[in-house]
Amino acid sequence: MTSWTKETFTLNTGAKIPAVGLGTWQSKPNEVRQAVAAALKAGYRHIDTALAYGNENEVGQGIKDSGVPREEIWVTTKLDNPWHKRVEEGITSSLKSLGTDYVDLYLIHWPSSSDPEDLKKHLPDWDYVKTWAEMQKVLASGRAKNIGVSNFGIKHFEKLLNDDSCKTTPAVNQIELHPNNPSPKLIEFCKSKGIHCTAYSCLGSTNSPLAKDETLAKIAKEKKLTVAQVLLVWGLQRGTSVIPKSVTEGRIQSNFELDGVKLSDDEMKQLSSLPDRFKVCGDAWLPVKVFFGDDE
Ligand code: NDP
Repeated sequence: MTSWTKETFTLNTGAKIPAVGLGTWQSKPNEVRQAVAAALKAGYRHIDTALAYGNENEVGQGIKDSGVPREEIWVTTKLDNPWHKRVEEGITSSLKSLGTDYVDLYLIHWPSSSDPEDLKKHLPDWDYVKTWAEMQKVLASGRAKNIGVSNFGIKHFEKLLNDDSCKTTPAVNQIELHPNNPSPKLIEFCKSKGIHCTAYSCLGSTNSPLAKDETLAKIAKEKKLTVAQVLLVWGLQRGTSVIPKSVTEGRIQSNFELDGVKLSDDEMKQLSSLPDRFKVCGDAWLPVKVFFGDDE
């Protein structure tokens, strides 16, 4: 029986990332503090935030409210796009807001070095390869125990990993993964390089089309599980960590009631081969193209 709530995935650094974490994107002001505290009280030990979410302060307060010691919690935050040239400042700002002196994982949020003066423009003399060199300095300083990336495709890795300045392989790639965007090729590529994948929008995000999926509903009904629980275990059995977001106490709890849940090979296959495709996060708002197909 797998105790998913106690399960961890071992990163290429040897660090162990808790398999299930709490997401915090789009958590409205005054919601996220109590959500983080409720999650930690329910047993979660992994919280995902980002400078861009504007809620690191509240996340830090929620951590303190919970009474759970800092060293028992895995905290991930991310460097925002307009901060690529100011990584040192970015991590300093995040740590101050979170009220901690280190994060467990620091990610480049997007492979887009946006001009802080004009977010529609890309910095002419910079890109994520240079940003990664700065991330490596943060790692050396101990303020991030692990460093990684997010929204990276195969093309981004091929450029980064082949650059002489890349001395540390990213520990994690945090990407959109759910049955309507399963990206098996990208997961396999990351695995071959020793990069762990974390699944974001693992429930299909706000107003998820997956809530109406008949195959998913049938499996959930047969197993007496919620649709969310089925989606989370599908992600976990693929070897990805999952970070469902909720600010609703009952959902925070039920999303963590996963121990002993197992999907059969056939159920996994059915969910991995749903015909529908949709993506929560696109790249139209960025100055550069990031996605080159749903699995690259
Ligand atoms: P999720 O797939 O986690 O879905 C969140 C939505 O599902 C919310 O509307 C939530 O509602 C609802 N929900 C949660 N649990 C249940 C349940 N048991 N039953 C029904 N509905 C439920 O979406 P996100 O896009 O937020 O992704 C998760 C996390 O991944 C983010 O919060 C963020 O931390 C990270 N992320 C990272 C990105 C990146 O670029 N690196 C991009 C996007 C997300 P409610 O809160 O009202 O309960």
